[in-house]
Amino acid sequence: MTDILADTIAAIATPPGSGGIGVIRISGPEARRIADNLFRPTTPRPTFSSRRLYHGHIRRPDDGSVVDEALMAFMPGPHSYTGEDVVEIQAHAGAVVLREILSLVMDGGARLAEPGEFTKRSYLNGRMDLSQAEAVIDVIQARTETALRLAAGQLQGKTATVTHLVREQVLEVLARLEAGIDFPEDVADILDVSDTCMRLRQGVIRRLEEVLDGYRRGHLLREGLRLVILGRPNVGKSSLLNRFLEKDRAIVTDQPGTTRDSIEETLNLSGLPVILVDTAGWRQTDDPVEKIGVSRIKPLVDGADLVLFLTDAATGILPEDEAVYAEVKGKPCILVANKIDLPGAAAQTAAPAHWRTAAAVSVSVKEDLGMDRLRGEILSFATGGGRSFGDGVVPNLRQKNLFEQALAAVSDGMEGLTQGLPWELVAIDFKSALDALDAIVGVTVKTDVLDEIFSRFCIGK
Ligand code: GDP
Repeated sequence: MTDILADTIAAIATPPGSGGIGVIRISGPEARRIADNLFRPTTPRPTFSSRRLYHGHIRRPDDGSVVDEALMAFMPGPHSYTGEDVVEIQAHAGAVVLREILSLVMDGGARLAEPGEFTKRSYLNGRMDLSQAEAVIDVIQARTETALRLAAGQLQGKTATVTHLVREQVLEVLARLEAGIDFPEDVADILDVSDTCMRLRQGVIRRLEEVLDGYRRGHLLREGLRLVILGRPNVGKSSLLNRFLEKDRAIVTDQPGTTRDSIEETLNLSGLPVILVDTAGWRQTDDPVEKIGVSRIKPLVDGADLVLFLTDAATGILPEDEAVYAEVKGKPCILVANKIDLPGAAAQTAAPAHWRTAAAVSVSVKEDLGMDRLRGEILSFATGGGRSFGDGVVPNLRQKNLFEQALAAVSDGMEGLTQGLPWELVAIDFKSALDALDAIVGVTVKTDVLDEIFSRFCIGK
């Protein structure tokens, strides 16, 4: 662990492209010396105080020529982001300028940082636990305000706090079990089975279940709710899509994997990212069978979290609607009866008895009627009935798997206790629960897991 911290790393910490300022970050034992060689303060001074910005110039050490005007800040370890000596140079954000400064820094003895290496060092130096380090990525990648609020909560240590609370209780039970193994004659005094199980149910099982529920909800926030609009031709699918895009289009830079010409659009529905699968491609065919698009519906529906099933309120449900509905196959579905502005449109469209719909909303996409109710139903589906996002612990997939392991192990342990199994066996369950909890905050994590986590960062973070 120590040798990977021995060298000094550097990277451009701001995104590529031109802009007002670009930041070069240097961290490690040589950071200060390297910066001293390049940076000439406007007012000469013998030493730089920590956490102050100094104005000056970056000069090439060989001929003293100026590369750029810059500000420099020195943040000595251990109270810096990485826990090491950190220097940040703010220069003009042009690709050539920043690359030249970076290469001078590297000539001075630093090596290029790997993705996430600054944050990894922060974790290795004990500045944050692993769940907080992971939250740094989530803050950077947050697509909506709510997702950001969640990530910020994790960054402040919410996951760590609940993990420690649960861990304490598991540890206490484990300590008692081990004492009972050492002093078998005193087991009755050492641990009361029914009392212990009751406390575990309240303090551990219930908490872990809450955390796992948070995962389910947070998953939608991170990944977005995948929404597919289905319906026979001419019910208004494109019009609905356009209505959403016009009002709710998320202003985000493209995520990796989604490009301009992809068939997915990200919406921001009151803080909930919604990935609307655009079926434009197959709406434009002239083939009558393909026109309904039944053959192409299946993969879309398979990948969706929710289907918006559009019908025409003026015609009511037709056999063609039934044909398309057959492809929904049990996916959660909101019935949307469109065109209520037309004369003769039914105010309420009841779904046929065998349709399973989570809600039914009547709208006129054209006249913009009922659209807020529709948005409300989508949100309420995602939040499980109006509970708000942003509170509590929302683990990521890695943490969720470990919380699940801990939950299963504690449940097994309680069962073993109740059945009167030998405490040596029961202790194994509680130990594996403890291991899982420790891995969440990074007390015990294998190097390859760490590498995987930090490789998801961008360079310079
Ligand atoms: P798609 O084939 O399902 O994508 O349907 P379109 O979005 O292309 O709409 C088919 C026709 O219905 C178009 O002429 C739309 O202008 C019209 N339409 C869509 N929504 C409404 C609505 O709410 N009221 C009325 N009166 N017409 C609508």
